[in-house]
Amino acid sequence: MSSVGGEHPDAPSGHWSEVADYVAWLVASGLSDAELDRAVEAALREAMARVDCVECHNCCQEHQPQATDEELVLMAQAMGVALDEFIRLYTIETPLANRLVARVGGTRPSEGVCCMLDHGSCIIYSGRPWGCRVYPYHLGSGVRDNVGELKEAYRICPAVRIALAELRKRLPGSV
Ligand code: SF4
Ligand code: SF4
Repeated sequence: MSSVGGEHPDAPSGHWSEVADYVAWLVASGLSDAELDRAVEAALREAMARVDCVECHNCCQEHQPQATDEELVLMAQAMGVALDEFIRLYTIETPLANRLVARVGGTRPSEGVCCMLDHGSCIIYSGRPWGCRVYPYHLGSGVRDNVGELKEAYRICPAVRIALAELRKRLPGSV
C-alpha cells in the first residue's frame, strides 16, 4: 500500500473540523461505552491494514515516547549499546516515573523527531516501547473519555482519518 509524504490516498485530509460534529454525535449516541470502543477499534484495525507505516512514520515525528526501566533495557539491547550509555545519549529525565526518548532536530528537547528514527525506520524496532506498539490502537479504548487524544491523532495519523471516514459510512450520524 503506498502513501506519499506521510499521507495515504484513501485518507481524508487532516482537518478535525471535517469530522468533529460526527464524533460529537458518535460519543453522544446510544452506543454503550463498550460498543463505541469496539466500533472504533475495529475501524482502526481495518484502517491500519490499508496504510504503510514504514512510508508514513508521522507518529514517530510527532510523538515523544515514554520508556519504563524495563523498556529502556530492551531498547538498549535492540541498539546494541550498554544501558547507561543508551540512557545518557538517547533519553531525557522528567518528573514522570518514566524517561522520555529524546528528539532531534528541534530547538528544544520537546521538539523535533524521535531520535530512534533513522531514514524512515525505527532503529530499535524490536525493542520499541509500549506506547509505540499500541499507537493508534489505544484510541479504541475509552473513546468517550479521550476525544482530545482522538482529535490529536486525527491530525497525525492517516489510519485514524480512514477509520473515522469508514465509521461514518457504517454508523451514519446526524451530519
Ligand atoms: S500509526 Fe499512523 S501515523 Fe503512525 S506510521 Fe502508521 S499510519 Fe502513520
Ligand atoms: S521509538 Fe521507534 S517506533 Fe517509537 S516513536 Fe521512536 S522511531 Fe517511532
